[in-house]
Amino acid sequence: MKLVGVIGAGAAGLCAARHILATRGMSPVVWEKSLQSGGTWVYTPQRGKDEFDLPIHSSIYENLKTNLPKEVMGFPDFPFPSGEESFLHHSQVLQYLDSYAEHYNLHPHIKYGHFVEEVKPVKQDESYTAWDITVRDLESKKVFTTTCDALLVCNGHYSLPQMPEIKDIDKFHGPKSHSHDYREPSPYKDSKVVVLGASASGLDIALELATVAKEVLISHNHPVPIPSELPPNVRQVRGVVSATENGFVFGDGSSAEADMILYCTGYHFTFPFLTEDCGITVEDRIVKPLYKHLFNTKYPSMAFIGIPFQVCPFPLFDIQVQYVMAVLKGVVSLPPREKMDDAFVSHLHKQRRIGYADKSYHQLTPHGQINYTNELSAQIGIVPPLKSSFGSVNLFTALRLVFSFTLFRKYQYRIESDGSVMVRLDGRKVNTVLSIGWLVVKHTSRLLLHDFFGVIKLTTSFLSKKLKSLFFN
Ligand code: FAD
Repeated sequence: MKLVGVIGAGAAGLCAARHILATRGMSPVVWEKSLQSGGTWVYTPQRGKDEFDLPIHSSIYENLKTNLPKEVMGFPDFPFPSGEESFLHHSQVLQYLDSYAEHYNLHPHIKYGHFVEEVKPVKQDESYTAWDITVRDLESKKVFTTTCDALLVCNGHYSLPQMPEIKDIDKFHGPKSHSHDYREPSPYKDSKVVVLGASASGLDIALELATVAKEVLISHNHPVPIPSELPPNVRQVRGVVSATENGFVFGDGSSAEADMILYCTGYHFTFPFLTEDCGITVEDRIVKPLYKHLFNTKYPSMAFIGIPFQVCPFPLFDIQVQYVMAVLKGVVSLPPREKMDDAFVSHLHKQRRIGYADKSYHQLTPHGQINYTNELSAQIGIVPPLKSSFGSVNLFTALRLVFSFTLFRKYQYRIESDGSVMVRLDGRKVNTVLSIGWLVVKHTSRLLLHDFFGVIKLTTSFLSKKLKSLFFN
């Protein structure tokens, strides 16, 4: 029996345990530092440290609803329960993960309240490395080491806040916090708030703040303003460059007074338990050297689940874990280390030639996720799990998010048995092509009037990247 270690019992770790259990000759041991599974989806009003004096893991807030419809969000072999709503409250996602764990009988394999402190390679022979995992039982405080034949790292990537560097930030008198610690809007009542960062979370939080705040300034460096209509007390400004005692200066030289700033600036990849011998480093948001965003090229018996972003995470975890299992079973052989390192470097160079920043190395996008999944499925000989409806629903959601942020969660998606996608709004069927076409035309014309050259520059850069990616393929 091979023992496969798993760090973390969030969605990725649960999925890992499920597939390890289904593989003959393998058994999982999952270490989870908290007392329950679900990771990110375990909401807590607490901030700072937990009952074991460890940093709070989850970054979700009280009213968070998913930004992906349940129709594409679930594991391919375990759909969300049916229901009208497509965008679920976080508590429903946790319930779903609990049912998944129950259904596959995962709990007996999870050691709750067990914090992984250190991971070290143990050379078995020239071709194989096992792992010594040192774990602290947080209740008894006992420390012990387990040797595993392989290790899946599933520790999550939305916990360690990335703080921006802002000139003279110490001069600013108001509260400064990161979205990791945001729970609900009442502390922002009647204030003027700068929300720095306009990803899906930044926008979502900004809109929630707008229900109580006097004014919300969304500060970002996107090439053009976000086209969606926003509430009247929300304004878009360029990225913050410096602070004064009572406000901020933005990239275009303008400035504004503010009472508080909330950083929605993302998170770092972090693996504090990996010793240097493991050979993994993180630089400019690249975890390296990984083969297929997955295997440690130095020691391929270590794999990382869930590194790619701008994806539907649960379906991604599912295919990544199945691929790792196929490698561990010997169904698929990985190339020699030099070839895997070459693949990593040549992908990085290709991204650079196309014009992507290094920090986008692990960014897949929904279309990229389909290609990635198809490639992995083909190699392990399974039917690609993501159907064309997956791409359509993702595309509709992404367009509605950008062009109609205040409304995008009101749409209900249904994937019919013939694979077509039915969309409803307020109980009525929606013609998607017409409704999205209208949104795009309306807001793009508005943007063209507002910033003609910005739109042209953005379109040219988009097309040039598309062309270059075709050329370099
Ligand atoms: P996590 O859920 O973070 O789980 C990691 C687990 O590892 C945790 O339980 C943690 O306690 C444990 N752990 C970490 N370190 C150790 C250690 N040293 N020892 C032992 N245990 C350890 N995804 C969607 O699909 N749809 C959405 O709408 C969506 N919205 C999101 C909104 C926000 C604000 C955030 C932050 C994320 C959102 N996500 C969404 C992404 C979400 O993170 C993933 O869906 C998914 O839950 C990640 O699962 P994971 O297992 O990789 O990580």
